Amino acid sequence: CGVFGIFDPDRQAVLETYYGLFALQHRGQESAGITVSDGQEMQTFKGMGLVTEVFRNLPEKEGYIGIGHVRYSTTGSSVPCNVQPLQAEGQHGSFALAHNGNLTNTIALRRRLLQGGSTFQTTMDTEVIIKLLARSREKRVEDQIKEVMGEIRGAYALVSCTNHALYGVRDPYGYRPLVIGKTEHGWVLASETPALDLIGATFYRDVQPGEIITIDEKGVHSEFFTGHKPAHGGICSFEYIYFARPDSIMNGQSIYEARLEMGRQLWKEAHFDGDVVMSVPDSGNVAAMGYAEASGIPFGEGLLKNKYMGRTFIKPGQKNREIAVRMKLNPIRRNVEGKRIVLIDDSIVRGTTSGIIINLLKKMGAREINLLISSPPVCYPCFFGIDTAERKQLIGAKYPVDKIREFIGADKLHYLSEEGLAKAIKEIPKEDMCMACFNGRYPEAVPGWGLDKETG
Ligand code: 5GP
Ligand code: SF4
Ligand code: MG
Repeated sequence: CGVFGIFDPDRQAVLETYYGLFALQHRGQESAGITVSDGQEMQTFKGMGLVTEVFRNLPEKEGYIGIGHVRYSTTGSSVPCNVQPLQAEGQHGSFALAHNGNLTNTIALRRRLLQGGSTFQTTMDTEVIIKLLARSREKRVEDQIKEVMGEIRGAYALVSCTNHALYGVRDPYGYRPLVIGKTEHGWVLASETPALDLIGATFYRDVQPGEIITIDEKGVHSEFFTGHKPAHGGICSFEYIYFARPDSIMNGQSIYEARLEMGRQLWKEAHFDGDVVMSVPDSGNVAAMGYAEASGIPFGEGLLKNKYMGRTFIKPGQKNREIAVRMKLNPIRRNVEGKRIVLIDDSIVRGTTSGIIINLLKKMGAREINLLISSPPVCYPCFFGIDTAERKQLIGAKYPVDKIREFIGADKLHYLSEEGLAKAIKEIPKEDMCMACFNGRYPEAVPGWGLDKETG
């Protein structure tokens, strides 16, 4: 998911939040929502679909405090009542919350809240956070947040607002990103820096793991959660590999630079030869540039991506998955026929996409396809907010690399090593990163320890 927040007496919160969410659309295409406050009264507008679909007409509500959310479904099914932000009443009046991440102890917390008389409108872990906040007896909002942070486990980058202030929170492991930006007369919070670029805000700094940011008319105030301390961090390596925009600066590093380096590392590790380096657009583009640069093999466009491919209705079954891939990508015969292709993609999850693409390229006359993946094999599910499927669907969990190569029809196959990946994400020490979907070493306890995915 993507989250955004603004506190700026000089700007229209609804419009700025709309722009912010538009820049974060890649983080969730299922639903979008905006909460706005004029200092007296709060209102939430939300619906299913892309930002431009939900907000065909912008709500006219004036206000200078706002938060927004784009949803990518992990916990909780894709139904309208699961759209965020969630708005509720607490001891300080109205408040609203938008959440990126996934809690790992939702079921236990829900059970406890239900026993205490709470009722739930949605199946979201975010509602558990709302209920815990509303129930807190602490006087200061920051202390309420700290109390709730002591109870919830897992991944959360939160933006929240009351009629007086904007809040930003990052869990103690720092799984999901959150940044602070500065406008001329106010402040913004966003999952990624392109949202700041679009509204003309300047990057101020990242919210730190375990940090609680308060923004009001007095400016920015910071406090830290002092409860349970993680042994090491959990900054998500998959954000660098796939999820974040390449024009993002995350935890002090350009995502573009990290992906270029993943490509250079792939060359160092594999030295696959060919006539041309090609990518599976868009997720393989930057790593392919890095590989081309390091190897001296020219970069060429091999697959053209249809720009109008949105969320498309796809019937189950192999034949239909194939048509879905072909709706999205078509080989450029001139660049493919008779060529030995070094093909680069960011990840193999279920293994269906790569197999279909290789088949398409071979049918168009590619002589050889040497596939390089800019991440290690995905072998374990994610419990922290990225939808990497259940263990039994992960081809990396089922077969060794050589079997996978055979299955997808590549002539050669190499995955980036964990070491190579760690080198590419150079601003973050390896012990502060999460690579659990590759190595199973989850930063904290997960439900069933990786055997089943909790669908609370
Ligand atoms: P698969 O191996 O499951 O057929 O698909 C792998 C492809 O899906 C890769 O090209 C990668 O870019 C993309 N991908 C990786 N992670 C995710 C994810 O979390 N969600 C979606 N929708 N696609 C992903
Ligand atoms: Fe990211 Fe993988 Fe860790 Fe999930 S398990 S937080 S996708 S690195
Ligand atoms: Mg891809």
